[in-house]
Amino acid sequence: MPIKVLVPEVISKIAAGEVIERPASVVKELVENSLDAGASQINVEAQGGGIELVKVTDNGAGIPASEVELAFCRYATSKISNLADLESIFSLGFRGEALPSIAAVAEVEVFTKASPDIVGTYMYLRKGDIIRKESRGRAQGTTVTVRRLFHYFPVRLKFLKSVNRESSHIANILSQYALAFPEVRFSLLLDKRLSLQTTGNGDLRDVVNQIYGLEVAQGMLEVKARDTFGKVNGLVSPPSLTRSNRNYISFFVNRRWVYSPLLMRATEEAYHGLLMDGKHPMAIINISLPPEEIDVNVHPTKAQVKFRHEQAVFAIAEEAVKRALTRAPIAKSRVMPFPATSWSHQGSWMIKEKEPISIAPLPAPDLPVLRVMGQIANTYIVAEGPEGLYLIDQHAAHERILYERILAQWLKKEVEVQGLLQPITIELSPSEEQNLEANEENLTQFGFTIEPFGGRNYLIRTVPVVVAKANIPEVVNILLGNLASKDNPTPWEEKIAQSLACHSAIKGGQQLGNEEMRELIRQLEQAKQPRTCPHGRPTMIHLSLHQLEKEFGRVS
Ligand code: ADP
Ligand code: MG
Repeated sequence: MPIKVLVPEVISKIAAGEVIERPASVVKELVENSLDAGASQINVEAQGGGIELVKVTDNGAGIPASEVELAFCRYATSKISNLADLESIFSLGFRGEALPSIAAVAEVEVFTKASPDIVGTYMYLRKGDIIRKESRGRAQGTTVTVRRLFHYFPVRLKFLKSVNRESSHIANILSQYALAFPEVRFSLLLDKRLSLQTTGNGDLRDVVNQIYGLEVAQGMLEVKARDTFGKVNGLVSPPSLTRSNRNYISFFVNRRWVYSPLLMRATEEAYHGLLMDGKHPMAIINISLPPEEIDVNVHPTKAQVKFRHEQAVFAIAEEAVKRALTRAPIAKSRVMPFPATSWSHQGSWMIKEKEPISIAPLPAPDLPVLRVMGQIANTYIVAEGPEGLYLIDQHAAHERILYERILAQWLKKEVEVQGLLQPITIELSPSEEQNLEANEENLTQFGFTIEPFGGRNYLIRTVPVVVAKANIPEVVNILLGNLASKDNPTPWEEKIAQSLACHSAIKGGQQLGNEEMRELIRQLEQAKQPRTCPHGRPTMIHLSLHQLEKEFGRVS
């Protein structure tokens, strides 16, 4: 389609606003243009955090000589032409705003050639005015160079962060596009140093290797799902591979990098109960939907989208990630074969990170029937199953059992409550008092009756049966602390169930009789997620028969 200025009727429907906020926005818009032009190779260069220079070169379709000037007019685009096109957008750009917006705040050079033209076009603009335009030879493709961004706008310049921060924004933008388009060969030079280079061979894992390193690339699990509504693909980390923030989670919708709280929730839901508090997965997820299912025209930077059927998107994303996670290995721990001496003297297995023998992943999510063999270090239960040897952490396993039981009782409103013959008095700090007030109803639902008793003193009259034998003031203190913690997004009922389970579970170091161990294992076999404790730590380590045979040199 030739470049044309949109008609006023379409312009009025376009989400208006600032497109160029910082140097990384220039990179984003130029790279999007290169991708829309079908480029298979995109080279980006930036200097001085992108303020001195941003240069993007592609081997895409190029701009015909007759349209180069028009490309810099406001609302001039070759990607849509009428209102109906706005309803189903296939390209990354569609508003015809980027080139004029960039040209208005910088010095811009464009050098381009489209295929039927014999010679290319070079044009130089300053603050939006064309200073020079001439024909020059070059191969098909486009190079846009942007210099002195915001030079004539000192106030805008002042708002930028340090050169390093701006450079890191640029690197991040380019990494995201490289993840979204593994078949495109990207390179990024930051202050003349090669910061990123992808092969363009179409393999997402190769791009992940370039950006996050080999260990991550090898560990990631493939996400692949499709139904009549849409398609999801990408890579997600197994529960053993986490980060302490959400910066390693990228979502793309029809390969547009988007910020989406909905997809974030769907992903976190899939990992629910599998990760320790404060830990986040790594994920690269692309959702492909018919373009009419998405509205991109909600924000000037096109970083947000609206889904027509949010529930359906949530469901397909969550399900796809969940399915990928069933292929995760059970525990990433690495086990050393136990030398006889350490077995007899220490009574425990040596667990080390180095000199690894990796543990075979278990194929099925449920536990097979296990036969208890004994206990070591009064902490781990040794059991045998059809698949080999299992070492079970008695505390973590019991925590998992109690956690599921407590939540199930709460759901059915059948929490078992114990009245205390002798009510217990506790004194709360002012902030604990606040937490108690805010959570009184929640605690009541779980069987606590806590009444004011003058000053900051309170009387505990009833407690849930599971913690009746525990140190009750301590349990209440910890519960109030957990409920108040803001940076833990776990729902309140799960926080309560976690705390209760943790306090009432058998501890490590406690000797168990054979019958007790058998009962514990039997209950664990019935748990919904027997392999992790409620905090996401593994409840067990598995050594397959094959692994044992390898260790003993019976097979190679
Ligand atoms: P939009 O991308 O929304 O159409 P832009 O202002 O970014 O608006 O670009 C205007 C037009 O210039 C595009 O529609 C496209 O036709 C052309 N164009 C811009 N950059 C390139 C490029 N790298 N290769 C080919 N054509 C380009
Ligand atoms: Mg554009």
